[in-house]
Amino acid sequence: MNDSTEAVMEIPSTITLKTSVCILGSGPAGIVLGNILQQNGINCIVIDKYSRQEIYARGRAGLLECTTVDLLRKYGLVHTQIDHQPTHDRCEFRYPDYSIVLEYGQLSGGDVHYVYPQSDLNDDLIQQYLDQGGKLLFRHEGQQILQNEDGVVVDCYDQESECLIKIEADFVAGCDGYHGIARPSIPEGAIHIYKKQYGYSWLAILAYAPPSTEHPIYALHPDGFAGHMLRNSEISRYYLQISPDEQVEDWPDERIWANLQKRLAKQDWTLTEGQIFEKRLMSLRNYVMEPLHYGRLFMAGDAAHIITPMGGKGLNLAVQDAGVLAETLASYYHNKEDISYLNRYSEIRLPYIWRAQEFSYTMFNMVHKPEGNDSNDVKFRQKLSQSKLAQLTTSATFARDFARNYVGII
Ligand SMILES: Cc1cc2nc3c(=O)[nH]c(=O)nc-3n(C[C@H](O)[C@H](O)[C@H](O)COP(=O)(O)OP(=O)(O)OC[C@H]3O[C@@H](n4cnc5c(N)ncnc54)[C@H](O)[C@@H]3O)c2cc1C
Repeated sequence: MNDSTEAVMEIPSTITLKTSVCILGSGPAGIVLGNILQQNGINCIVIDKYSRQEIYARGRAGLLECTTVDLLRKYGLVHTQIDHQPTHDRCEFRYPDYSIVLEYGQLSGGDVHYVYPQSDLNDDLIQQYLDQGGKLLFRHEGQQILQNEDGVVVDCYDQESECLIKIEADFVAGCDGYHGIARPSIPEGAIHIYKKQYGYSWLAILAYAPPSTEHPIYALHPDGFAGHMLRNSEISRYYLQISPDEQVEDWPDERIWANLQKRLAKQDWTLTEGQIFEKRLMSLRNYVMEPLHYGRLFMAGDAAHIITPMGGKGLNLAVQDAGVLAETLASYYHNKEDISYLNRYSEIRLPYIWRAQEFSYTMFNMVHKPEGNDSNDVKFRQKLSQSKLAQLTTSATFARDFARNYVGII
């Protein structure tokens, strides 16, 4: 009999699963990739470290570009609800004393944004994947990616059974966002990294408040940028430009509403307030890796590139990456291509990703007070930004180009 008082450590068992493509993350990039691979008869396993409810609870993007909806339609992945959601075809740039309303739908030849919350879209896509017999392991955290010439092994931890699982695959898709494990698993210096950090942050706010506008508002105020975006008839999203040393605790609800009231103010217009249920600090950065793969690891969505929310590109890029990656993998398997064929994914996507980065960066500068301590330099760049914004009304070519990039890069 063992009368030792020491706790007996149980060694967790290890299970091995085999598949063609192991997809890390069931956010928009991962679950779109999973759906399209499955439709093409390619074996895949999606893992996510969170439960389905936890994934749903993350309120994020809300604007789907027409190009994203077209891609989802192509694969029958558009929930019928999207067709009954409101669409946007105009936005407003609001100075304290005047506004520019951009009819971007008209300017782009009739294309629109669909207003549909990311959490609903993601959950619809998860449901479709599961309905088609897809394998999705919730609460499984990817911990390590090992690869050799013939394949990859992804180690993950099942938080429920506390088992270690090894997934052996031909390829791994890093769709696990900026803070996942795929990005840091690429050795330093193996790929090029391009990045920029901004000298201020955004406070992103969700409130139970009916929208006070029928289109997104980008307000340019001496105190800083403020944004009013739409979610649905009961919930609205707002953004406030704040200094980088401020914390969420520095922004009680009264201060938020006072700032939104001031920065968004317009004659004969009222901002309806409501109960704030989410406030989060957003560090503003741009990040792109080149190429979008390292050996048998292919990166998509936020894991491969980060963009500020300006212009609403992040979710859309993630879905479009997944579409191209899935199609490239499908051709590779069906046509028995050489592995170098998969370089096409990066070659096709990077020009679009850079166009989105450039567009978002330009738009960001158009509506933010420039950063820096040199007041002459700040004033000069402020005039340049104002000139750029004014071109929306003075240059038909610029306005058309802006509208095209805003509603969906083609
Ligand atoms: C407040 C806010 C507002 C935004 N607004 C917009 C907008 O209006 N328009 C727009 O286009 N974009 C917007 N974005 C950006 C958009 O939400 C992201 O670009 C999009 O979610 C990227 O999708 P993804 O699939 O690449 O990554 P994610 O959505 O981050 O999904 C990654 C998944 O990987 C999982 N994961 C992470 N690590 C692991 C691991 N180790 N093992 C297993 N799973 C893991 C996570 O749980 C997650 O489910 C916004 C973002 C925020 C935060």
